[in-house]
This record gives sequence, structure tokens and C-alpha cells, in this order.
Amino acid sequence: MNIILFGPPGAGKGTQAKRLVSQRGWVQLSTGDMLRDARKAGTELGNKVAAIMDRGDLVSDEIVIALIDERLPEAEAAGGAIFDGFPRTVPQAESLDHLLDGRGSQIDRVVRLAVDEKELIKRVEKRAAEEGRADDTVEAFKVRLKAYNDQTAPLIPFYTGQNKLVEVDGMGAMDEISARIARALDA
Ligand code: AMP
Repeated sequence: MNIILFGPPGAGKGTQAKRLVSQRGWVQLSTGDMLRDARKAGTELGNKVAAIMDRGDLVSDEIVIALIDERLPEAEAAGGAIFDGFPRTVPQAESLDHLLDGRGSQIDRVVRLAVDEKELIKRVEKRAAEEGRADDTVEAFKVRLKAYNDQTAPLIPFYTGQNKLVEVDGMGAMDEISARIARALDA
């Protein structure tokens, strides 16, 4: 099964993706994690994206599509992919459909985690204190939220049109949210 965990920055996509990995044995494909790994490793790609990420802007579609393409065989072998933070633009979503189609596969469900803006800010502040991510500052968060609203939110009608979108309440205790996601996936 291939699913997308969808939602604004701070919605809990990464946390819930990790839980699904341990519960179901699927592979988490987080382009944000892949880009942060490239930066830590000091690769050419890592250096190229550093300033863009710290600002809170999106890196180019080509970069993230190539990262995802590389990891699809691994997810296929595991029996499922959890896309986390990808796709973030309509061209990325179209490319993903195309890549999966070429492998005789598809996106089965898009789980939209609904969290109100006040709660998002609270979570990002908490993460800033715990992880020290450069893009968890107030300024960068504003840019990321704007990128979400302008470039990523159009995926809601895109996946609604494909009949794949399910909305899950992303507020409350982590275990409760996990249980809601499980129900949405098993329905
Ligand atoms: P995330 O950890 O998913 O919040 O991603 C952190 C940052 O990495 C984003 O703010 C972007 O700069 C970049 N990034 C991650 N995924 C994507 C994507 N699918 N498209 C464009 N930029 C991305």
C-alpha cells in the first residue's frame, strides 16, 4: 500500500510516519529527512539546498522527484511507502503518479492531518527547542506556512478528484491520532 501523509508543517506527519513504519513495516519516504541527510553529509546537493531550506522555501521539483525515484524500489520491496512531505506541488504529484504508474503501482490513500494554525505554531516551537532545526524559527515558519498554502494546498482538490483523500483530525493525543489514521487506512 502506498500512502501520503499530507498536511502543513508541524501537522505531525513525521511522527505518525515513524509509527506506521514500526506498525506495518512500510518505508518512510521523507524528502525533508533526505535533504537534511544530504546537508549533514556535506554533499553538493546538500550545499545547494541549505539556504533555501533555512529560509523555509521549497527546493526545486526536479531535486525531490529524483530523491523519491531512487527510493521507490526499497519501498516496493517492503510492501508499502509512506510519503511524508512529498509531494508538495502539483507537478510533484503528477510526477509521482507517473513514476508509480511505470512500476505498475499507485497511491492508494492520502491522509490529510487537520491541525489548526495555533496548534501548529505551538508544535513547531516545541520542536525548535528539542531539535534546533534552522527552519523552525518564527520567520522561516511563516515562509513554510505560506509555501504550504500557496503551493501545497492545491493538492487537496487534486487528490479529492482522484477520490483518494481522507481527512483525519490531527489534534489531540498522539495515540489517538495514530488510531484515527489506522481506521482511515483499514476502512
Ligand atoms: P520538511 O522536513 O518536510 O518540513 O522539509 C524541510 C524543508 O525541506 C522544506 O521546508 C523545503 O525547503 C525542503 N523540502 C522537503 N520536501 C520538499 C518537497 N517535496 N518539495 C520541495 N521542498 C521540499
